Amino acid sequence: METSTVAQTAPKIEKAVTNLTPITVAHGDGIGPEIMSATLRLLKAAGARIDIEEIEIGEKVYLSGNTSGIGQDTWDSLRKTRVFLKAPITTPQGGGYKSLNVTTRKVLGLYANVRPCVSYSPYINTKHPIMDVVIVRENEEDLYAGIEHQQTDEVIQCLKLISKPGTEKIIRYAFEYARAYGRKKVTCFTKDNIMKMTDGLFHKTFDRIGEEYPEIQKEHWIVDIGAAKLAETPEVFDVIVMPNLYGDILSDVAAQITGSVGLAGSANIGEGFAMFEAIHGSAPMIAGTNKANPSGLILAAVQMLVHIKQADIAEKIHNAWLKTIEDGIHTEDVFSNKVSKEKVGTQEFADAVIARLGEKPAQLTKVDYSNGNNQFEIKISETKPAEKELVGVDIFLHHGDRNPDALATQMTDLQVGGLKLKMITNRGTKVWPNGFPETFCTDHWRCRFMVEEGETTTFDSVILLQQQIHGRNLNVIKTENLYLLDGKASFSAGQGQ
Ligand code: NAD
Repeated sequence: METSTVAQTAPKIEKAVTNLTPITVAHGDGIGPEIMSATLRLLKAAGARIDIEEIEIGEKVYLSGNTSGIGQDTWDSLRKTRVFLKAPITTPQGGGYKSLNVTTRKVLGLYANVRPCVSYSPYINTKHPIMDVVIVRENEEDLYAGIEHQQTDEVIQCLKLISKPGTEKIIRYAFEYARAYGRKKVTCFTKDNIMKMTDGLFHKTFDRIGEEYPEIQKEHWIVDIGAAKLAETPEVFDVIVMPNLYGDILSDVAAQITGSVGLAGSANIGEGFAMFEAIHGSAPMIAGTNKANPSGLILAAVQMLVHIKQADIAEKIHNAWLKTIEDGIHTEDVFSNKVSKEKVGTQEFADAVIARLGEKPAQLTKVDYSNGNNQFEIKISETKPAEKELVGVDIFLHHGDRNPDALATQMTDLQVGGLKLKMITNRGTKVWPNGFPETFCTDHWRCRFMVEEGETTTFDSVILLQQQIHGRNLNVIKTENLYLLDGKASFSAGQGQ
């Protein structure tokens, strides 16, 4: 009886005493510990209501034999706190080590990577004085699925996976973010002139979902020219949503052209978890020198405070940070004789921000997070299963002889379940029938077998066909079934087909 009374009252007492939001903190590698210590001192001085659980991830964990760089204690802590403030870590080269950043983002479903890139002219030197771009990078899919295979002596493959729900989530997130922060335009970058199916899905989803946000201007650029425009005239962009790889590359470009990659923070947002980090890496060349700019991690911590509903503290820190920048107190990466007043180290920069807590910038735009939010209710539509008809198979071969005609003659007589050899490509380019003798061929061939139009085949026939090819001493390395989905081809044609 007594025991149960204690059990009932204990949580109340604990809540009254702490009233703090638990967060998990990793100090990271390279410059990580220095910038994290500067950031935590600032959070403490500003009165952030947080309860820190410290965990070890990164180089030490990797080198202890854990190829993911993250131990069980980290997952336990994250399950408890659901909020992660993370310093950059070093991924050791080679040795099968997986990027722990990518693992964390994917395992915890942190699908939206939000990276504001702002210039602070005239206080920080930049070729682009007017720039306030938020890059919303898809965080879970694309080539970052990390599914790679060396299939032949000469060819290695990396799978690019783009899903309907994944795409819908990130695009809705970008529009919701734009709406919440009064942003005027959302731009989408893809390469759908080449990757018509994967990037095509991203572009089409952008157009479809965009219609639900009539007050927001929408535009799409092919990523190459879009990137060139971003580097030349960033002032014409507002929010940009992109698949994972383009977002990774272009957010570094965007941050760098504001003055330094050391200036930008990022939020990785999922349904139940969130991770906050600087966008830069562990900068091992300047580790231990007190030269690193802690701003990226400080601004990531500001995003974290907004996330845990401590907008008052977020605002206090961000405004003091802006005032410090405006006062010309700069770390080496952004220091310039023309505009800076004092060159300071990592810790001295944090001290300068602490000294300005409560102050606001006079010229730079002060921040207001009273309606701040970075977690939106994102609904995704049901995927309706399509009617699937098997009409062919791409059989990939490892074959050292570079002559496509000779390879074709070994298979043209095959006919199983209506499947006949229709085309051979090498690295995607059609080389049989009627290939160009000039096309260079590797040892990696795709042989497309199809039924006649209007017919279908069976999976048993696909297996039998493989057995027959194998029986001719040809080396089958993989297959892709070719389907009609609701009557439409769900596979791309060969280049030059
Ligand atoms: P990096 O971002 O660490 O450094 C790139 C350049 O920017 C260097 O010249 C560096 O000195 C400078 N720089 C970066 N941050 C700075 C700061 N805060 N202040 C001043 N200058 C700064 O990129 P890298 O050299 O390609 O990668 C180094 C390591 O970081 C690698 O092991 C990489 O895997 C890792 N990395 C980690 C993360 C992460 O943890 N989120 C992200 C990117 C790279």
